[in-house]
Amino acid sequence: MYPKIALIGRPNVGKSTLFNRLIRSNRAITHDRPGVTRDRMEGTVKRDGRTWTVIDTGGIHLDESYKAAEGPSELRGFESEILRQTQEAMAECVALCLVVDGRDGLLPFDRRLAEYVRRSGLPVLLAVNKVDGGELEDQLTPEFHELGLPMLALSGEHGYNMRAFEEELRDLLPPEDQWQQLEQEAGLKLAMLGRPNAGKSSLVNAITGMNRMIVSDMAGTTRDSVDVTYVLDDKRYTFVDTAGVRRRAKITDTVERYSVNSSIKSSTKAHVTILVLDGQEGLTQQDKRLIDLLDERKTPFMVLVNKTDLVKPNELAAVKKVYKEALSYCAHVPILYVSAHTRANLKRIIPLAEQIWSECHVRVPTGQLNRVLEAIVTKQQPPVVNRVRPKFFYMTQAETNPPTFVFFVNDADRMKDAYIRYMERSLRKTFKIEHAPVRVRFRSSH
Ligand code: GDP
Ligand code: GDP
Repeated sequence: MYPKIALIGRPNVGKSTLFNRLIRSNRAITHDRPGVTRDRMEGTVKRDGRTWTVIDTGGIHLDESYKAAEGPSELRGFESEILRQTQEAMAECVALCLVVDGRDGLLPFDRRLAEYVRRSGLPVLLAVNKVDGGELEDQLTPEFHELGLPMLALSGEHGYNMRAFEEELRDLLPPEDQWQQLEQEAGLKLAMLGRPNAGKSSLVNAITGMNRMIVSDMAGTTRDSVDVTYVLDDKRYTFVDTAGVRRRAKITDTVERYSVNSSIKSSTKAHVTILVLDGQEGLTQQDKRLIDLLDERKTPFMVLVNKTDLVKPNELAAVKKVYKEALSYCAHVPILYVSAHTRANLKRIIPLAEQIWSECHVRVPTGQLNRVLEAIVTKQQPPVVNRVRPKFFYMTQAETNPPTFVFFVNDADRMKDAYIRYMERSLRKTFKIEHAPVRVRFRSSH
């Protein structure tokens, strides 16, 4: 997982403009939040040898009815929502960027946020936005000095000082080796998804059992982020976001609990996602949508079909067939048939998660890749399209997590789906990437 930095600040100061600049063309993840119409976004920044995640906390955008009713109490409501989001960001980020509007000047709520982020003890950068050119800097920035935070004047819209912005944010990150060590000590993070009553709590309890060390209700965070950590063979494992899992009695709105969006949000906090399905009830539409999304987003995940103790032995083969078929378009996703009650197959879950995560980090040297490319193409030639046979020049591995292979071909549009699947299967087999997601891309080159 990458270290995270959050952009926080009042609505309209330019957070999302800065966010989009930072992530450039990288796709962002949107998190819908109940009650507010503004989404929280996460995106990846890859620059100068460091990769990190930027979070646009969103703040809020008041919808029309809200605006009409606007008054002091409603305003306090929106301020407390922003403070809540800030607090949540503080719990998961290594640094914060407080964004203010240089043209509005320093407002009381900016002061309040500054005080808030200072108390977090995290490194902070104050970004004075809407300084649309160097000549405005002396005019717009002096009053912000009183906040006593390291400060940078910039313009998200016009690009002024964006390079310096990227560099200053990067400098707030912990050194790479320190981060790696922290990550290692924190161990593997697992997210349990699945609809209410599928058996998530029972499984977490059965897996962690007496080894459960910490149930951390991180101070100051919302009920969303309750983590259960336990130690197995000297290694730490953490089930993230188990609030919904543990406190089920208190939560009546089960529809909200199993919203696909909040599930996806939990999965972004984990290394490996575990989707729990109720083996007795069968697959629902929502289960299928979630599987689709996890696959599309290249999330490392496994499926647990729980309550198999309730399945009659002579029906087990038929049940397995149903799940296998439902997951046939993402055949790399492992399915375990388990029971929290009888403990069947529970011992296989953690090693499988370890395997998936380690496969996510397979890196193949370019020389070896090209020998393999030759072998793949020789074994089965790509089909002729419009009287031309696609020609492969070379391939590289662009990324890990997930392993991403890029083929350079004469005409990327001529690749047939069946052949793409053949290539992916061959790569998986050769490089022993059995259960992790893999990305295969084609680029035209001459
Ligand atoms: P957010 O609510 O904090 O995410 O703010 P947005 O990014 O949505 O920006 C709010 C408004 O400020 C939009 O109309 C932007 O076009 C404008 N804006 C953002 N950055 C700048 C800037 O650097 N200069 C100027 N003049 N306007 C900006
Ligand atoms: P959650 O809402 O996904 O956390 O589900 P729970 O763990 O609270 O389980 C819901 C219900 O299913 C409870 O009554 C559990 O006792 C039951 N349950 C969970 N796992 C199993 C299992 O493997 N077999 C059987 N027979 N019942 C189970």
